[in-house]
Amino acid sequence: MDLQQLIHLIRAKVVEGRLPQNTFSGVTGRAGNNEICLACNEPVARNQLVVEGIGEATTAVHFHIGCFYCWNAERASLASLARAMAAGMATASPE
Ligand SMILES: [Zn+2]
Repeated sequence: MDLQQLIHLIRAKVVEGRLPQNTFSGVTGRAGNNEICLACNEPVARNQLVVEGIGEATTAVHFHIGCFYCWNAERASLASLARAMAAGMATASPE
């Protein structure tokens, strides 16, 4: 999967609620142990870094380090867009 496909997949998952829309309250990193990355659905091998996030759900969420950064950027971008749209709608004058 190339970067554009990964970003498209992650964006779709965030919009559909299959990936968290909010940041985690805690994040740790360690060597992988074939955990399934929630972003790309591929296992995180033992020679890769797995990022484990704890958020609203009680279970940990696992990402490849690159997938984590893509998810965090897409999540923040979509949240910013939602705020801008809400602000624009709130200040738009009726016609
Ligand atoms: Zn991944």
